[in-house]
Amino acid sequence: MNTAQQPHPPSVEQLLNAHGMAVLQERHGRSSLRKVVRDYLAELGEIYRRKELLPQMLTETMMVSAVAARLERYQTPNVRRMFNLTGTVLHTNLGRALLPEEAITAITLAARHPTNLEFDLTTGQRGDRDSLVEQLLCELTGAEAATVVNNNAAAVLLALSALGAGREAVISRGELIEIGGSFRIPDIMAQAGVILREVGTTNRTHPHDYETAINDHTGLILRVHPSNYCIEGFTASVATKRLAIIAHDNGLPLLEDLGSGSLVDLAQWDLPREPLVQESLADGADIVTFSGDKLLGGPQAGIIVGRRDLIDRIKAHPLKRALRVDKLTLAALEAVLRLYQDPDRLAERLTSLRILTRPATDIEAQAQRLAPLIAQHLGSNWQVEVRAALGMIGSGAQPIARLPSAALCIRPQGARKERNRTLTTLMAAFRALPIAVVGRLDDNALWLDLRQLDDETAFIEQLPALQVNPV
Ligand SMILES: *Cc1c(COP(=O)(O)O)cnc(C)c1O
Repeated sequence: MNTAQQPHPPSVEQLLNAHGMAVLQERHGRSSLRKVVRDYLAELGEIYRRKELLPQMLTETMMVSAVAARLERYQTPNVRRMFNLTGTVLHTNLGRALLPEEAITAITLAARHPTNLEFDLTTGQRGDRDSLVEQLLCELTGAEAATVVNNNAAAVLLALSALGAGREAVISRGELIEIGGSFRIPDIMAQAGVILREVGTTNRTHPHDYETAINDHTGLILRVHPSNYCIEGFTASVATKRLAIIAHDNGLPLLEDLGSGSLVDLAQWDLPREPLVQESLADGADIVTFSGDKLLGGPQAGIIVGRRDLIDRIKAHPLKRALRVDKLTLAALEAVLRLYQDPDRLAERLTSLRILTRPATDIEAQAQRLAPLIAQHLGSNWQVEVRAALGMIGSGAQPIARLPSAALCIRPQGARKERNRTLTTLMAAFRALPIAVVGRLDDNALWLDLRQLDDETAFIEQLPALQVNPV
């Protein structure tokens, strides 16, 4: 094949017969190779037509290399590992909680083998998938019954649909919140067929606000943890205990969406305190919902705990089937819940809690080790400093509380007007690494908060690949 004299690109068959293609086919498969060659040649034809490149400029070897590179890209998985150096530990966009080894082992087992997902090993009869975790959830929260769905948004939708459809749900105006990703409480209520009955004001809601709103059409009282925002100053809200009394005096259930929720008091590790699921139930909430992959530290899931008769109605609702969790989620959730049976060792074994409780001194020592290495790879156009930093839990838990940490703070040394462009280039270079690195932009610098950098070796090994355009 002599490409130098061809005005057109070679045909698909011609290029497939070129030297080196057999190896590519062996490695990537015939079908992928064909697809990539076809696409490549179509683009090449277009480029020749626009005279952006002359056919004689491309040798066959160059074409084969181009195809090899495209195949590599085409077959790179879309789900990629990353380094989360944003300082936000439970980062929704980066997959929230990292699972402990016990959960990973359980997922692998459930993926590889048949399991008793819905099979009662005692009777040999069909079983209920909730039973794999229900007892554990009851033991840990003090609830009578429990069920699990795909996420907490689904849990709220299902609970409202099953317990309040066609009736009014009373909720404080301070709790009509939006939580990223277009989860808005009023919309979820509408979707569930519940009539929104808002009471009080944004900053203050009192017991009598609820009491006067209750009428013959009321189906339930809803309380929602404000999560990623907080109201400070002249505020008032009704405690769960009081709200439960109001609900029960009127024969109504109290539903509480805790958002993150927690099963252990985080104050014991000097972390900001989040409401406990067991406290909410003890205070009289009839149904409590919370996420599996926020502070609990497990897989994505929505957990619903509470009164047996209400959970039975929730389980019987047709949406339950549509929102149910799969075996991998249940396997991981069970393994994570079992770690809570030994609270003394929880901070070592539960990955998310281990990250949250990592001492700032440890993080700073790591930053001191890494700063000179990064500085060396970036060269003299960049200043790299170790700085104290403040991270956060993330996922709506304690939005204004900060986690003392340490960061590598990287600034361009060039002219001021170029700073933004170069920082953008720097961030793009970190993202382009084999294991993409994301940090946080603040005060004309890129901050790499190292709280979550567990695999220091992998981080260092890929530094030579960091390619930043010169300032
Ligand atoms: C995060 C959150 C949700 C949504 O939970 P997902 O598990 O992400 O679906 C719902 N309600 C509150 C209060 C939350 O904080």
